[in-house]
Amino acid sequence: MLDVFNRRINYMRVSITDRCNLRCFYCRGVSDFSFIDHSEILTYEEFLHLARLALKLGVDRFRLTGGEPLVRKGVAWFISQINSLPGVKDVSLTTNGILLERYIGELKEAGLRRINISLDTLDRHKYQKITGYDGLSQVLSGLQRTIEAGFNPVKVNTVILKDFNDDRESLSRFINLAFKLPVHLRFIELMEFSPVKGLFVSATEIFKKLKDNRLIEETELEPVFVEGSGPAAHYYQLPGMKGSFGFIAPYSHHFCGACNRLRLTADGQLRTCLFSTRSYDIKEVLRRGIGDEEIIALLKKALGEKPASWREADGQMNGKGLRNVGG
Ligand code: SAM
Repeated sequence: MLDVFNRRINYMRVSITDRCNLRCFYCRGVSDFSFIDHSEILTYEEFLHLARLALKLGVDRFRLTGGEPLVRKGVAWFISQINSLPGVKDVSLTTNGILLERYIGELKEAGLRRINISLDTLDRHKYQKITGYDGLSQVLSGLQRTIEAGFNPVKVNTVILKDFNDDRESLSRFINLAFKLPVHLRFIELMEFSPVKGLFVSATEIFKKLKDNRLIEETELEPVFVEGSGPAAHYYQLPGMKGSFGFIAPYSHHFCGACNRLRLTADGQLRTCLFSTRSYDIKEVLRRGIGDEEIIALLKKALGEKPASWREADGQMNGKGLRNVGG
């Protein structure tokens, strides 16, 4: 389906839970334990009902996220159900990787082939500082198992955090990871709805640091295409790299004109732009038990009102945290 700005909206990011097993200080804050009541969270059946209707409108790619999607029971079953819906072209998962080692076999059996792992540092102590949990080795084992199980592409999402991972040593460890393993590393700019301020470093600065520290040679960079990447990411490879690295820079390089996304929160609120506070109460229409036509009408209304760009989004997300938007 094309929206009014001729963008093909075919991708839905679905937050299946607001619960998380980590407490990343820049995400929802270390002391925020306010969770949505279970009864308000969409059941898998409700998600599937909605996915069937979204498919009719051309949304045929789904990414599961959270909270931490792997903490919700039955996620592999849910993935297999989405995968079996006629017309679905792609199902992927974004996870912090803590539970990957345990679930990778089930996820593969369910038909999942692509995984993004969030990992902001390769230093054990910094990992604990950022996430509140001494879990780096668990994530690295999960990453290794994911590669061994044949998942492809495997992407590693690294949010750039001033004074945590923008130093030479941190950047060098990440670049080395892309040399050693077939992973696609993405340096992501921190978005301003983080509850913590003053940590922003632009992708441009990171690129410059990589060059200035001779971790990359600009003349040797080969642009590469990585499957399943939206308009947001650009990847490069250096000779000898098994993987690649790239940047997602919503602030310094906007990609609103090519945005193909919708987001659904765990409690059934549809958002058409990460930078907008506007939401559409899908749960309410789903649970009212009225016909599918009305749900489709609401989906169409949401698509029709998707802002042209983040500047036109009708509110900023300052301090609200990703749990409200389905990270
Ligand atoms: N728990 C899963 C995970 O860690 O991948 C999925 C949800 S998590 C909210 C999704 C991603 O959002 C993570 O990579 C996290 O680092 C990122 N994130 C959280 N707050 C952010 C912010 N303010 N700006 C940019 N990315 C953020």
